[in-house]
Amino acid sequence: MASINKATDPRRSILAVGSLAFDSIRTPAGKADRILGGSANYFSISASFFTNLKLVGIVGQDFPREHLDVLSKRGIDLEGLEIAKGETFHWVGEYGTDLNEAKTLSTCLNVFEHFNPKLPGNYVDSRYVFLGNIVPALQRSVYNQLKKPVLVALDSMNFWITGQRESLLETLKIVDLLTINEGEAYLLSEQSNILDAAKTIRKMGPKALIIKRGEYGALLFTDNGIFSAPALPLSTVKDPTGAGDTFAGGVMGYLAHEDAGEAIFKDDSILRRAVIYGSVMASFTVEDFGFTNLLRTTAKAAEERYQQFLKMTRF
Ligand code: AMP
Repeated sequence: MASINKATDPRRSILAVGSLAFDSIRTPAGKADRILGGSANYFSISASFFTNLKLVGIVGQDFPREHLDVLSKRGIDLEGLEIAKGETFHWVGEYGTDLNEAKTLSTCLNVFEHFNPKLPGNYVDSRYVFLGNIVPALQRSVYNQLKKPVLVALDSMNFWITGQRESLLETLKIVDLLTINEGEAYLLSEQSNILDAAKTIRKMGPKALIIKRGEYGALLFTDNGIFSAPALPLSTVKDPTGAGDTFAGGVMGYLAHEDAGEAIFKDDSILRRAVIYGSVMASFTVEDFGFTNLLRTTAKAAEERYQQFLKMTRF
């Protein structure tokens, strides 16, 4: 029985940087205006099922304090979160019938434009690090302040791949594990075949690569070969926003919980299980708008979905 519990050892905690946002979203199932979102939010809520976190990010004075309490109560340390004068990051996006492809209508960086993260003293020893979707130079700036990270994961998106390609390529050199959408993998690699894309991207830095394929699951590429994980077929999918970051939260949460470190590159069985935990967590996010459903999920419900995965893939 897979049992999901939280590691309390501070050496297994994760430092995460990324966006905290207001999102305005339209999907075939409806719309939501200025709901809470952002890569760091989805990631850390998801990873908090497995371990404690240290968050690095910035919000404006318009960001609700009650939500910060929600994060704190889940073991997410907010000492590295700056509350600045100005407005919180705002993303406006929509999805057509293909829920795997978000169309960005507007990105207002707002307070992120002048963000210069300075890690609190007790953050610099972090061993597990997630550089979430945000300006690539900020991802590097956070990394450069760390003493000795053992596993660095990164997520990015088309906005940065096309808008700040050179800077993103620089950041990729320091990354051990990259999680990226299929469409973005083609964009980044400038290839049109998934094997070629994976080969090209792994040469850019990441030893392990996970290509997310939305409702079709995820592919893991390492020196040991390829692992293909399905997504859980769901009867209700309302809003795929945040699925990728929630997925990354499950993956990194599990790896940090197991203190997997360098070992993942010798034998990728831990990484394979991590991909399933990522898929389990993402399955909750997409069932409702924002992270409403993820917040009401229990470890027991997540364990049950893990069992469903085992049953679905055994033959
Ligand atoms: P995903 O998991 O890929 O669906 O990411 C969803 C989250 O990414 C949303 O909650 C957005 O607020 C956030 N987001 C969208 N565009 C950007 C961007 N350019 N930089 C950072 N975060 C973004």
